[in-house]
Amino acid sequence: MMIKEIREYAKENKVPIMQPEGIDFLTTFIIKHQIKNVLEIGTAIGYSAIMMSLCSPTLKVTTIERDEERYLEAIKNIKKLNLENRITLIFNDALKTKINEKYDLIFIDAAKAQNIKFFELFERNLNEGGFIITDNMYFHGLVKKNEKEIKSRNVRGIVRKIKDYITFLKENENYNTTIYEIGDGIAVSEKKVKGGV
Ligand code: SAH
Ligand code: MG
Repeated sequence: MMIKEIREYAKENKVPIMQPEGIDFLTTFIIKHQIKNVLEIGTAIGYSAIMMSLCSPTLKVTTIERDEERYLEAIKNIKKLNLENRITLIFNDALKTKINEKYDLIFIDAAKAQNIKFFELFERNLNEGGFIITDNMYFHGLVKKNEKEIKSRNVRGIVRKIKDYITFLKENENYNTTIYEIGDGIAVSEKKVKGGV
C-alpha cells in the first residue's frame, strides 16, 4: 500500500514525518471542525498533506517545502495517489513566500526555532474563527527537561525558542491556545472571533 511505502521511505531517509497519534489528532480535528482548506508549512515528502486530504474528500491543502529532494519526492507521492487537484505544492522558503488566500487551518510543522516568525507571517491568511496548529511542542521531550541536562548548545537553543513560542502563544490575546500531550506535543491556537466574548 502506498501510505506504508511513504512511511518506510521516511524511516529509511530520516524524514521527520508526523507520528501516527499526531496524524489521528489532525485528521479527527479536520473532520470535527469541518475544515475546508489548510495551509501547511513544512511538506517534507507530502505525508501529512496526503493524510489530511484522504480524511476529507473535498479538503484542499497548500503546502510549502524548501528542500528540493523532499519537494520532488512529495510531487511523486501526491501524483501516485492522484491528489494533484487537491494538494498544491510550493517549493520555497516559507519565510519568503507570500500567500494571498485565506485558510480555515494553518499547520506549522517546519523549523522549530522559527515558529514565531511563521505564526506572525501567516496569521494574516487565517479566517476568523480559524485555527493554527503547531507540531513538535515538546521536541522529543526535551522541552520538559532541565536545560542543564541538554549537552548540545544548538539543541538548547532550539528548546529555548520553543519555550519562547509557548510564552508567545499563551500571551497572545487574539487566540486561545491549548497544548496537547499527543505525539510530540501539539498546540492548537483558535483565533477569537472579533466582537465575540
Ligand atoms: N509535515 C510533514 C513533516 C515536515 S518535516 C509530515 O508530517 O509529513 C519539516 C519540514 O519542514 C522539512 O522537510 C524541512 O525541510 C521543512 N522546512 C523547515 N523550515 C522551512 C522553511 N522555512 N520553509 C519551508 N520548509 C521548511
Ligand atoms: Mg513535526
